[in-house]
Amino acid sequence: MLISPPSGKKVLWQEMLRHEFMTALDNRPVVVVPVGSVEQHGPHCPQDVDISIPYHLAIGAADAIDDFPVIVAPPVTYGFTHYNMGEVGTITLGLEVFISVLCDVCRSIWANGFHRIIMVNGHGGNLAPTWAASVKLAEEDVWALAITYWTMATDELLAWSEADDGSIGHGGEWETSLQLYLRPSLVDESRRVKDEWRTKFSPGVQKYAAFPERRREMAHGVMGDPFVATAEKGERLFNVLLERLVTLCREYHEEDPPRYREFGSHSA
Ligand SMILES: [Zn+2]
Repeated sequence: MLISPPSGKKVLWQEMLRHEFMTALDNRPVVVVPVGSVEQHGPHCPQDVDISIPYHLAIGAADAIDDFPVIVAPPVTYGFTHYNMGEVGTITLGLEVFISVLCDVCRSIWANGFHRIIMVNGHGGNLAPTWAASVKLAEEDVWALAITYWTMATDELLAWSEADDGSIGHGGEWETSLQLYLRPSLVDESRRVKDEWRTKFSPGVQKYAAFPERRREMAHGVMGDPFVATAEKGERLFNVLLERLVTLCREYHEEDPPRYREFGSHSA
């Protein structure tokens, strides 16, 4: 999944030369770290749904911004997804290992002098661990924003959902739509199935009292309805997400990480 922008612009960290890093460091660069997971996504979607979406968003943002450098770090492809091990295809890291990997990646990027780091996560199980990593790093005065992509468009998800009620789901309406837009050849629409949501509590209580997932106890490993997924919906959502990420990159380019200003250093 080593993709480059359609424009051919060089944006991938692993392809850059030393002098290109040095030039970038002179102009308040932003580094986006895509974070995902390798896991089953129902019978119809590939295993890398959750890393492919942040990766495409990161590449898109880096391609869209020309007045300062936005660099895409090598994606953290493995995530925390023990609860998807019940279906074939899933590979998971342990919780502490995953948090350590995120911390070491961000520490390294920071140590290279890149102090505007944004982790863009694409997997529900990573949400709390990614945040925990950013909190742990903050203890060390290393700063990495932790965002999960669908939280950039919660209003649109709710307004545009035909079946999944604003949830990103799992191989359901929205993940399938995004795949149909980004990588249609990897979706087998003839294998789509719909699973019912399973929760312990009533919908009202579930909003504030949800257990962490133990395993994906659906008949087919799907959460949501892929039958209402379309490439057009995927494109519409992707474009909103991309716009939000570009806006964040632009604002962070102008800003310093929290402790920087306090210590009066502006050498980032
Ligand atoms: Zn997913």
